[in-house]
Amino acid sequence: MRLILIGPPGGGKGTQAKFLIDHFAIPQISTGDMLRKNVHDKTNLGLEAQKFMNLGKLVPDSVILQMMQSRINETDCSNGYILDGFPRTIPQAEGLDDLLSELEQKLDHVVEINVPDNLIITRLSNRRSCKECGQVFNLIFEPPTTAGKCNTCNGELYLRDDDNAATIQQRLSVYHNQTKPVIDYYSKQGLTQVINAIGTIDEIRLEILKNIVL
Ligand code: AMP
Repeated sequence: MRLILIGPPGGGKGTQAKFLIDHFAIPQISTGDMLRKNVHDKTNLGLEAQKFMNLGKLVPDSVILQMMQSRINETDCSNGYILDGFPRTIPQAEGLDDLLSELEQKLDHVVEINVPDNLIITRLSNRRSCKECGQVFNLIFEPPTTAGKCNTCNGELYLRDDDNAATIQQRLSVYHNQTKPVIDYYSKQGLTQVINAIGTIDEIRLEILKNIVL
């Protein structure tokens, strides 16, 4: 199963990907997580990417495509993968097509998680992530049992640098201008399924599964 999850920042792609990796026993490939790890490890790629990420802008396509080329060639991807947060631009989608044809692979589904902007703003400004294990909470919809602490590892919860009001607006505008056209790109190939993600996490998960398993 080769699947793309596409949707606005904070739309629940990461949360849904976590269910799907268990269901299909394939890895989740999140470009955002890969970039954040590089920023944390202070690699050259991380130092370059951080400038764009902190402003809510996209990291250049060439950087992302090079990173993805190595990732999808790794052995754990041989039975498939879930792409979370990639491709985000038309050049990235075209670059992915080239990578797939070199590997003689095809995409099975592109799932668009559709969430209205006003809900995204509420979700992102209340999102908290664990510094240790990366688990994501929401102060309104999914609060941690103990304030400021992760339920799983007791690590400290923090607000991501790019989850502030100004950067959220910038990321939403990038999404509408640069990533929405990617959805049309895949719709023309008959690959897109649209999920209206208003409901509980479980309801959305079932809706996704219903659309891709049949
Ligand atoms: P995310 O965690 O997916 O919301 O990504 C956080 C930030 O990482 C984005 O706002 C971008 O700056 C950068 N980023 C993640 N994925 C990509 C991508 N496919 N192309 C360009 N920039 C990306």
